[in-house]
Amino acid sequence: MHDRLARDLDRLPDLLEAVAEQAWGLLGDVAARPVAGRGAPPTERPLPDAGDGAERALAEFAERWLPLFSASAGPRYLGFVTGGATPAALAGDWLAAAVDHNTMSSLDGAGHLLERATVAWLRDLFGLPTAHEGAFVSGATMSNTVGLAVAREWLGEQRGVLVAQEGVAALGPVRVLSATPHSSVSKALSVLGFGRAALRTVPTLPGREAVDPAALERALAASDDPCVVVANAGTVNTADFDDLRAVAALKERHRFWLHVDGAFGGFASLSPRFAALTAGLDAADSVCVDLHKWLNVPYDSAVQFTRRRDLQARVFQNAAAYLGPLGDTPDFSHLTPENSRRLRALPAWFTLRAYGREGYREIVERCADSAAALGAAVEALPGLRLLAPVRLNVVCFTLTEDPTARRLAELAEALSPDAFVTPTVLDGVPALRAAFSNWRTTAADVRHIADALARLV
Ligand SMILES: *Cc1c(COP(=O)(O)O)cnc(C)c1O
Repeated sequence: MHDRLARDLDRLPDLLEAVAEQAWGLLGDVAARPVAGRGAPPTERPLPDAGDGAERALAEFAERWLPLFSASAGPRYLGFVTGGATPAALAGDWLAAAVDHNTMSSLDGAGHLLERATVAWLRDLFGLPTAHEGAFVSGATMSNTVGLAVAREWLGEQRGVLVAQEGVAALGPVRVLSATPHSSVSKALSVLGFGRAALRTVPTLPGREAVDPAALERALAASDDPCVVVANAGTVNTADFDDLRAVAALKERHRFWLHVDGAFGGFASLSPRFAALTAGLDAADSVCVDLHKWLNVPYDSAVQFTRRRDLQARVFQNAAAYLGPLGDTPDFSHLTPENSRRLRALPAWFTLRAYGREGYREIVERCADSAAALGAAVEALPGLRLLAPVRLNVVCFTLTEDPTARRLAELAEALSPDAFVTPTVLDGVPALRAAFSNWRTTAADVRHIADALARLV
């Protein structure tokens, strides 16, 4: 064994302690540090010939790289839709690396069982029926991609084509209907060979990002061909929700696969105050929920559910003599784009075990209360204007005067020591959005942000 490796092996307990100490140094004051990262990237250094061990690597990372990272794990990082990591999720993630188990196969170890157990908890959390089976993937983009891949196979079934075997060209043209899809849907359509042009945008209700069900019905009625509908449960700009029950009811008269993107909006179902937003989710054929957002597990983690595991296995089957037959409960290597995969379920298992349904309901409601409070503060500031009512956890706002993209970028920059928000455009109006999905955020953080905004505008 290389002498540096042998030395690190001897010193492993000390090394793990040093890492824990550094992690605490990072997290202990995460709420006090400037929220956005700053500084020029370090000058490049050549790949070392002889390394000098893990402790030197730790020191160099801390000195040269760590200061460039934002406090994205902290309570006032409101860009994109960003979760933190609960204490239990962090513990589970560290242990997932320590166990270093490959969950692809059931031939060895309990990883696949832990994943199935965790998927069952998540299914329960989101109120889905047992007909929905699921798997962990790396994020909502991948979850949407898997759901739409199963939809593709279903379209083949409707048209008498085995798409997994014959290819997407054998399927002919496909329509994917959606009102305000996340950008990852177009990306998935490109990856899956449908092409981005397969996406047909359906009108929304007036002044909303939610689909107009009557317009969707007209679009469905325009062709007898089976198609795919992507319903959105939580849009990024304004956290708007399609009426899932109204969309699902259209199945009585039209043939389509219903995929629901509930990347963060799926969590509305955890609170009686917001559960009406996701009513009808159980009628979906496939469902996407991100976990590195509102479940607050570390990157990267999401879950996908579908009622047609048989079709899913047809798409993703990874046939090899040493992997064995599919059987009734196919191994995860036959269900997801990856073959080898980490014990991604463990952080989710830890945090669900530690805080349960009630703990997550409290996080969802506190985030929603924070968004409502910031929304009220924005409305009270003469220089700012809310662009949409705060429905759940997103505040979308702009400047009252001269709301150009440049001026909003300047405002975001000036705000960035206190809070990180990201730019967007809503109905042609440049805007900023603040999304609350971190378990740490409290009312005091919202006051902090509102005070900063009041100083700036
Ligand atoms: C974040 C998000 C996605 C993409 O999620 P990733 O985890 O970044 O891949 C998809 N849909 C919606 C609605 C989202 O909010």
